[in-house]
Amino acid sequence: MRSKIEVEALSYKYDQLKVLEDINFSMQQGEFIGLIGPNGSGKSTLLKNINSKFKPQQGLVYLDGDNLHQLDKKELARNLAVVPQSTEINFDFTVEEIVLMGRTPYIERFSSEQEEDFAIAKEVMKLTNTFDLKDRYINQLSGGERQRVIVARSLAQNPEVLLLDEPTSNLDINYQLEIMNLLKRLNHEQELTILVVLHDLNLAAKYCDKLLLIDQGQIHSFGTPQEIITSENISEVYGSEVTVKYHYPDNTPYVTLIDQQYIPQSKLEHKIHLICGGGTGRELMEQLVKKGYQLSCGVVNKQDSDWEMATSYNIETVIEEPFAPISEAKHQQNLNKIKTAETVILTEVPIGNGNLFNLKAALWAAKQGKEVIVVNGHNIEERDYTSGAGSELFKQLLQQEIKEVEDTVSTLKAIDEIIKN
Ligand code: ADP
Ligand code: MG
Repeated sequence: MRSKIEVEALSYKYDQLKVLEDINFSMQQGEFIGLIGPNGSGKSTLLKNINSKFKPQQGLVYLDGDNLHQLDKKELARNLAVVPQSTEINFDFTVEEIVLMGRTPYIERFSSEQEEDFAIAKEVMKLTNTFDLKDRYINQLSGGERQRVIVARSLAQNPEVLLLDEPTSNLDINYQLEIMNLLKRLNHEQELTILVVLHDLNLAAKYCDKLLLIDQGQIHSFGTPQEIITSENISEVYGSEVTVKYHYPDNTPYVTLIDQQYIPQSKLEHKIHLICGGGTGRELMEQLVKKGYQLSCGVVNKQDSDWEMATSYNIETVIEEPFAPISEAKHQQNLNKIKTAETVILTEVPIGNGNLFNLKAALWAAKQGKEVIVVNGHNIEERDYTSGAGSELFKQLLQQEIKEVEDTVSTLKAIDEIIKN
């Protein structure tokens, strides 16, 4: 089956600012897709690339298999209509006049609306519950009424594809539901293909068949609401801790925010030192920072991906030169950081002669009576590049009173237990 809309390897930038990168997805006829993602992630920009307002610097958009950016403007408007994010209509037009504007792509040059155009305008006003407003001026309407008029105008284009950019923001909850129900009905009754940007994840999950989640200009994931609305995805993309419940009978996900303002004092006071490298500490850094722990880190080499992450989070870090072995001085600095921490975590960092000091630091911490958490100690031999010195140190470490864990989740659990006791 040929896709109704196909977006292929699309990239877009405003001057120097790269906003969309390598976007690929397609919509089949009659699909109702929600476009979600944090503010500034590129949702509006993507919509404008699909409605031909912007032309991508790279990639293509197809409508029924044809290059959409090469279609004649009127022809495009007969197939695809847009409800933009904010509609500024400065002039005093009546509702009916606004809706009739949607007929423009069907009206011959130098001619005016025909009977059919008025009939269609009436039909879409009835459909959107705006017919009673037809002689009112648009500027005198409430936000909800105005939004319905803009939807009516887009429907007067008799499109097969409808793109909407946050059509429900600024609307009361009952109007939000009214708009969404209208879209659902059009989708069902007329097989209208819909792509709608929504701010509200719960509204998106409730009404859309599929969700396209974008994060910093790239597609993070695309699938059913059940697949996309998970606490992992939301935390990854929005950086918010949420719980997701799945509602009976159709498993519609429902998101509830966990209040991040409140972090218990016991967490605020608990200092953790992370011994990592080579990207083995990234996930833990993100999680620990988010949970409000005081974190330090070291020794890591400059340019290492753990160094990048630590820098981006402003974590106090003992840093060694790029690719250089850890010096005695940096090792001492690391021990000084460990002194002030309650808990030390050793990630499953590969061990070479250059970072043997990091193992020594973990061992020292354990001997000092610090709580030491060791991630995936069982595979030390696979990542020991010291011809045995690393494994030997590791053996000594395991003889101390340490906690062995296997992943980020169990590490976080172990920390919780340490704090409780
Ligand atoms: P969203 O709709 O997901 O909130 P946008 O597509 O509006 O995101 O914006 C994505 C990024 O592009 C943001 O960083 C925004 O500041 C930038 N941006 C949006 N419009 C313009 C513009 N006209 N000129 C330059 N940068 C823009
Ligand atoms: Mg936007």
